[in-house]
Amino acid sequence: MLDRLETIRKEALDAINKAKDSSREAIEALRVRFTGRKGELTNILKSIGSLPPDQRPKVGQLANRYKNEIETAIKEALEKFDQKNSEETCIAGLDPTLPGRRLPYGRLHPVTQVMDEICAIFSRMGFSVAQGPEVELDFYNFEALNIPPDHPARDMQDTFYIDDKVLLRTHTSPIQIRTMEKLEPPLRIIAPGKVYRCDSDVTHTPMFHQVEGLMVDTRVSFADLKGILTHFIHQIFSDRTGVRFRPSFFPFTEPSAEVDIQCVICGGSGCRVCSHTGWLEVLGAGLVNPAVFRHVGYDTERFSGFAFGLGIERITMLKYGIDDLRLFFDNDLRFLTQF
Ligand SMILES: [Zn+2]
Repeated sequence: MLDRLETIRKEALDAINKAKDSSREAIEALRVRFTGRKGELTNILKSIGSLPPDQRPKVGQLANRYKNEIETAIKEALEKFDQKNSEETCIAGLDPTLPGRRLPYGRLHPVTQVMDEICAIFSRMGFSVAQGPEVELDFYNFEALNIPPDHPARDMQDTFYIDDKVLLRTHTSPIQIRTMEKLEPPLRIIAPGKVYRCDSDVTHTPMFHQVEGLMVDTRVSFADLKGILTHFIHQIFSDRTGVRFRPSFFPFTEPSAEVDIQCVICGGSGCRVCSHTGWLEVLGAGLVNPAVFRHVGYDTERFSGFAFGLGIERITMLKYGIDDLRLFFDNDLRFLTQF
């Protein structure tokens, strides 16, 4: 019996030594084999009762000692295995104790930020946001806006035609028509979006962003237009920004005006940006031409309204002092992360 104990001890320690680098499971299996509930050593301890009484103390003592020894060896082997494994994990760059690596934050494009800001300013004045398709029918883009096929105003805009009747919208004004077809006055909408023109140089891109505004109600006058646009300009630039309205012409408004702000670069004293005039044109506006109301079936005796449109890139450039339109489309992070 004592020889048998010696053999089990030797076998166990050899097996642990061999298994110590293979896997955690292999080491655990040895615990079951030798000191588990039906393990080889456990069986000997259980059979002590059947031995002659004089042998029992010696065998019992030795068996317990070996059991402790094997269990300690297994415990150490497991500890070493785990330690080695976590060292390998660290080498692979997955040390869970290191602080996490921060991912760079994304952010909104400056044009989107200004578009959101413009919408927010008009929302506070009761305007709601409307949208329309970028691929538009000739009817909504021109005809319903009082620009018939032979109208010279069509030459003012270089249009991307898809076919005779379908085009990429050249302005956000078609959204006015689509909204008025669906809703009865009174209404106040603001319509931001992309527009397309066959034009590309330092100050023009084939795609850019506009915001269209429309207010229709009984007794809407030019005074409302001036008040609301002046308030808007003071909100988006500054309370001290000078504003002036100049007579102009658009087929869809009558009377029409172009709105200038005091040059934000030189403060009105004259510089290269404002061509030494001290003023910068920022938007076009006017009272809705009754011909437009007739296209959507509004009663021109009862209702009047005003409309305006502005380029978002232009507002963004003036607001942040950006002098090159192309920067908005280059996707250069050194530029974009400044906003
Ligand atoms: Zn200036």
